[in-house]
Amino acid sequence: MAIEEERLPFFGPSGPPLYLYVHVPFCRSKCPYCAFYSVVPGTGAVEAYLDGLEAEISLRLREGAPFPSLSSVYFGGGTPSLLSPSQWERLFSLLEVFCLRPGAEVTVEANPESLTASHLCLWRERGVTRVSLGVQSLDDEELRILGRSHDSRRARDALGALAASGLSFSADLIFNIPGQTLRRWHRTVREILAFGMDHLSLYELTLEERSAWGRRPPEGMASGYPFYRWSQWYLASRGFFQYEVASFAFNRRWSRHNLAYWNRAPVLGLGPGAWGFLAERRYGNENSLAGYLRKTEEGRLPLAVVEEPDQERDWREAAILALRTAWGISRSLFARRYGPVPLETLLTVIDGLPERFFRKTEDRIALSRRGMAVANAIWERIL
Ligand code: SF4
Repeated sequence: MAIEEERLPFFGPSGPPLYLYVHVPFCRSKCPYCAFYSVVPGTGAVEAYLDGLEAEISLRLREGAPFPSLSSVYFGGGTPSLLSPSQWERLFSLLEVFCLRPGAEVTVEANPESLTASHLCLWRERGVTRVSLGVQSLDDEELRILGRSHDSRRARDALGALAASGLSFSADLIFNIPGQTLRRWHRTVREILAFGMDHLSLYELTLEERSAWGRRPPEGMASGYPFYRWSQWYLASRGFFQYEVASFAFNRRWSRHNLAYWNRAPVLGLGPGAWGFLAERRYGNENSLAGYLRKTEEGRLPLAVVEEPDQERDWREAAILALRTAWGISRSLFARRYGPVPLETLLTVIDGLPERFFRKTEDRIALSRRGMAVANAIWERIL
């Protein structure tokens, strides 16, 4: 299969674009496999968070103004749909200091238990272009095992509402859930496509160190490989293009925001627990609401970590991120950005791996479908 030569969002016509990520750190309850920063909000917590965000935005503007106009905005979490429509109104008004480029992508993550018709109406009015729904499964037993706050009926209702909303929408699914059979997985994937989304993200259940299951793993997990390989075959047969290890798009509706991240484009991350990437430095914000608010109230950026550039780490990370995507690595761009020696080292590693894991053209190297299925083993060789 030829590598699709879509122009990647490195640089727009008027200078480097900027991508905005806003972390909304609230969830109705904590899922045992989750390592993202989120808390169940107490009284006044959302308002305090919005105050903190307002302060962080003014600090950022004071420091870096004027920001270039935004190519995308992504509200992630946590569960952004846990904010009420009036809290969303305030959140949108805080962001009015930024300009959007024409055709900018604006995505909101939502969960079925908190998504309402009022959210959809407001988001559409305020320029949201896509909703990404955390479905995870359409099987009640699997949802119970995952500790999700919704059941399959609620997930179907939310998917139906999204299909009727006119917004583009995506769904997240998890495979290799303890006790999950291939037959159940097939049922979930087949059924979900009937709702007409143009994007799917499939994640293998992993035991993150900072999650409850990372500390005490559940029983009954098998290999995710057969789930993944069947999904690659089935989604391709339904017209979905696998443009990244975990992401499938219909009709070229890939997530431009996520592509920016995989291409190490500048991302301004706002909110507690948010990560950003500016001036070739990755930074992480305070990973607790209290710590975040303390710093913003003191008039300081709520930074917990700023990674200094490190040429060796940066090129290896850039190679892995680019190889996650169907476009892979452009030898010429890679050499221009990181130098000929890192490129040579990388090519030596790749040449030592089986040919069938890669698709190569004169300039580009990307993973084949088989390569994507064993991507973690390939990353270990590159790191
Ligand atoms: S998996 Fe999603 S819904 Fe569950 S705790 Fe994590 S962010 Fe919240």
